Amino acid sequence: MVKELSLDTLVVSSNNNDQHNASVAPLYQTTTFKQKSVSDLGEYDYTRSGNPTRTQLESQLSIIMKAEKTFAVTSGMGCLDVITRLLKPGDEVIAGDDLYGGTHRLLTFLNKTGAIKLKIIDTTNPQLVKSTLSQNTKMIFLESPTNPLIKVIDLPKISEFLKTNYPNCISVFDNTMMSPLLLSPLKYVDIQYESATKYLNGHHDIMAGVIATNSKKLSQDLFFIINATGCGLAPFDSWLLLRGLKTLSIRFERQQSNAIKLTNWLESLGFKVNYPGLKSHPQYQVHNSYNKGFGAVFSFETKSIKTSERIVEGTKLFGVTVSFGAVNSLISMPCRMSHASIDPETRAEREFPEDLIRVCVGIEDSDDLIEDLKQSLLNSGAIREINGKLIRSDLSKL
Ligand SMILES: *Cc1c(COP(=O)(O)O)cnc(C)c1O
Repeated sequence: MVKELSLDTLVVSSNNNDQHNASVAPLYQTTTFKQKSVSDLGEYDYTRSGNPTRTQLESQLSIIMKAEKTFAVTSGMGCLDVITRLLKPGDEVIAGDDLYGGTHRLLTFLNKTGAIKLKIIDTTNPQLVKSTLSQNTKMIFLESPTNPLIKVIDLPKISEFLKTNYPNCISVFDNTMMSPLLLSPLKYVDIQYESATKYLNGHHDIMAGVIATNSKKLSQDLFFIINATGCGLAPFDSWLLLRGLKTLSIRFERQQSNAIKLTNWLESLGFKVNYPGLKSHPQYQVHNSYNKGFGAVFSFETKSIKTSERIVEGTKLFGVTVSFGAVNSLISMPCRMSHASIDPETRAEREFPEDLIRVCVGIEDSDDLIEDLKQSLLNSGAIREINGKLIRSDLSKL
């Protein structure tokens, strides 16, 4: 048997059938393609329906995502828009209660307009998922680990239950946090999507989303919607994403090893750190039963909102920004930034700590990152240095 090539190899090896044997796929920056005759359309006629650069990207993505068919669209949210158009008015949909903020926004909007009937539940509880599903459930949206709370679902267990009992319910998994390097969700679900704005591209210079499926019927329906609505990824962005993909594996490896060092260091100081690579994570076993690693996003608590603000604003190497997956390290306070649109009561209901700091680790030198964070923690008063030892301050009394 021929050994399957590793993803580390596959991300850099691309075959393109360029007429001049260009070693990098050429960019077809054109909207139209001339026809040989009035009746012979040829393979491409109009870029909304298809473009060779986008095709090149989609075939490369299919290899990496182990999918029969992959589609590149204009953003991660664009993926969700396309996928929800598979539903009929009033269809029942189940979604996790800690999904990406934009996902929550679009699904609750569709629920409000009556387009879907939405049930939001804690999908980390497989029992609750089982008891909520019914013959009426047309689609289920899952995501793991969530961010910034880093909640983990038991995907294999949910998937087995769905396949056995509700094979007609379309299961959808947002794999942005793990990337195809750590998880191939199509083993478990019907549709996988990812915001390629994050790890897949890795440089924070394009917005893109990818949808993958192994179902012929679903891929036909998805193609119809993408062509009909015109949200296929533009040629230049497809070309940039092809370039970004080549370094996915080496970027991710460094980001993850940096994240492991940073989380171990913070935990050793006594902070509550949320990261699936730490044995202290309540779902450490579940996460590692189906993922090949832990990713590079984590969060930690200081017990003081003011101190968290000072820490975030006091770092020099970490950009204060939303999003993640880029080569640069980022730091944010979700309650003030990415998750500010969720009202405080809902945040409290979901036990969302207001002092939470989220860190998205880049590819810088890990010692530099730790030193920068250390200085910021010292300046903020979160830790003190006594006789050369770092001691965490008790901020809960402030
Ligand atoms: C960013 C993100 C999205 C949305 O992707 P965009 O490219 O920003 O539209 C969806 N899901 C997750 C988990 C994300 O992090």
